[in-house]
Amino acid sequence: MVMFGYTGKILFVDLGSKTLRTEPTEKYAKDFLGGRGIATRILYENPDALVFMTGPLTSFVPSGSRMDVVAVSPVTGLIGGSSTGGEFPSALKFAGYDGIVITGKSEKPVYLRIENGEVSIESAEELWGLNVFDTIEALTHGHPDLRVACIGRAGENGVKFAGISFSHRNLASRGGLGTVMGAKKLKAILVHGTEGTKPYNPVELMSVFEEIQESIISSGEFLRFKDWHVNFIPTILKLRMPYFGDYEREWEKAEEAAMKAREWFEEHTVGRASCFSCPLRCWGLVKYDGETLPINLCQGTFPAATFTLKTEDPELAWRIYRKCQSEGLDMMSTVAVVAYASRLGLVELGTEEVLEMIEKIVTRQGEGDILAEGIKRASEHFGVPAVYVKGGMESWSSDVRPFVGSALISAVADSGSVNRALYGFPEFYYYIKKEQAEMMATRFVGDVEAAYPWSYSESKVRFAVLWENLHIIADSLGVCVIALLTTPLKLWAKAYEAVTGEKITEQELMTVAERTRTLERLFTLKHGDRKDDLSPRLFRDEPKLDREKLEGMKRVYYSLRGWDENGVPKPETIEKLGLGDLV
Ligand code: SF4
Repeated sequence: MVMFGYTGKILFVDLGSKTLRTEPTEKYAKDFLGGRGIATRILYENPDALVFMTGPLTSFVPSGSRMDVVAVSPVTGLIGGSSTGGEFPSALKFAGYDGIVITGKSEKPVYLRIENGEVSIESAEELWGLNVFDTIEALTHGHPDLRVACIGRAGENGVKFAGISFSHRNLASRGGLGTVMGAKKLKAILVHGTEGTKPYNPVELMSVFEEIQESIISSGEFLRFKDWHVNFIPTILKLRMPYFGDYEREWEKAEEAAMKAREWFEEHTVGRASCFSCPLRCWGLVKYDGETLPINLCQGTFPAATFTLKTEDPELAWRIYRKCQSEGLDMMSTVAVVAYASRLGLVELGTEEVLEMIEKIVTRQGEGDILAEGIKRASEHFGVPAVYVKGGMESWSSDVRPFVGSALISAVADSGSVNRALYGFPEFYYYIKKEQAEMMATRFVGDVEAAYPWSYSESKVRFAVLWENLHIIADSLGVCVIALLTTPLKLWAKAYEAVTGEKITEQELMTVAERTRTLERLFTLKHGDRKDDLSPRLFRDEPKLDREKLEGMKRVYYSLRGWDENGVPKPETIEKLGLGDLV
C-alpha cells in the first residue's frame, strides 16, 4: 500500500550477523505516528536496539527537520532519547527509509552507507580514532549532499555521556546514545537520497505550509532569534542564570557575563544557519581562530560553560564548546562532570585546565577514566556526593529547585532528560517575562498560578502534563518543538492530513502522546526502577522545595496520566490506549 508522507519502510540492520531487512512503517504509524512514538514502540520489544526514526512531517513543513533517536541509556538503564534536526533526517527519507533500527554489534568498526534505497555495511577501521569533524570530512570530502551521523572519540571510548553528531551542529546529546553506537562499533551512517516522499495533497500542503510559516514568523521566538547576538545571547544567559546552582554568584555577575558574551559574539558572528526548512534559524555562525562553526545557545551549552565552569572569558567558553562538539560529547553532562571534578580538587575552573580535563575524560586517562563513567558512578567511587537526576544522569545544566514544575517532571521522567519535556515551559521565563508567562498559563490551563515557578497547584501539574504531551507530538511528527509551540496544534493536524491523507484531530494527537508516554513508563517498569520517581535528594532537601507538596503533585500527575498511586499504569488505561497486547 502507498503511504503518503512516509517512505513506508523501516530499515533493520543487525551488525552481529551483518543482515538487513525492512519492516513496513504502516505497522506502527496509526498508533504512534513516527519519531519518538514509533521509536519507543520498537525499543520496547528490542531493548538492544539503537533506533533513528523520522516523522510523517519530516521534510514537508516549516521546521519539519527532526528525527528521534532512542536506545537504552548506558547511564540510567532507562530510555535514553534525544531529538535532533539538521539535514540528516530529511536526507534519510529522501534515501528511502523512515527510520533505521540497529541491533547486535560488529566485531570491527563499520559504517553504514545508504544511497537511494541501497544499503551496505562498510569497514570503518580507517575512521576509528577520528574526531567528529574529521570523520565527516573523510566521509563526504566536503560534498554537501552527503549527510552523516557519527560518533567521535568519546563514543568510541565508552564515555557514558557521548552523543551522536549530525554534521558539525546537531547532536543527539543526552543519555549516552553515542556510547551505545560506539559499543556496536558503528562509527557512522552516511545517507544520500534524491527520491523524496510524496504528500497526499500538495496544493493543500502548500497552503498550510504558508499558514505555519506565518505563524512561526509572527511568534515571539522568531523575534528573539532575529537579531541573534543582540537579543538571543543576553536573554538566554540571563534566563539560565538563576538555575545554575551557584547561589554565591550575584545577578549582576550574570548581567556582566551576558554583556561580555554579547560583545564577543557581535565581533565574531558572521551569519545565521538553520536546520532543514526552518524559518527560525536559531543557529549563529561564529568565526573564530580561522574556523566557522554554528552555535546554538538555547539548550544550555554555552551558558553552562559560562556559569557552571566559571568561565567569564568567552574565548575559553568557545574553545570548551568546540572541544565538546569535535569529540561528540554531551556538553551538559561534560560541564556537570568537570564541575564535580573541581570539587575534588582535580581541576581549576575558569582555566585551561578544563580543556585538559575534558581530553583526559575522552581518552580515559587517570581520573578521567572514572569521570567518563558519569557523575553518579564517579561520586560512588570518590565518596563525595553529587547532584544528578533520575537514574544518575547529569542534570539539565540547571538547578530545578527554584522551578517546581521542572522538579516534578525530572522526578517522573522516563525518557532522557527533562529538556525532552519542558523546553520553553513558561515558569522558566517568569522572572524575565512575567506577563508572557502569565498569558500562556491562562491560555493553556485557565489559571495564572501555573506560571509561578514556586506554585505547587493542580493547574501547574496539568500544565506540565500538557507540555510533556506537546513535546511528544512534536518529536513524533518530526517537527522541532520550538516551532510547534509557536503554532496552534490544529495547524499541525491540518498539515498531517495534507501530507498523509489521514484525518487527525487535536484530541487524537494528544491520545498518541498519552499512549507513547504510558509506553515509556511501561518500559521503565519492565527494565528500570520506579522508586527513582523522586526528585534528586539534594534538590528535594533544599528548603525551597517542599517534599510533601511535591509528592502531592506527583499523585496528581499519576492520576492525570491514568496511573495508580505508585505510578503504575492502570489496566483500564493500558486497555484504553491499545497497549494491552504489549504487556
Ligand atoms: S528552531 Fe532551531 S533547532 Fe529547531 S529546527 Fe529551527 S533551526 Fe533547528
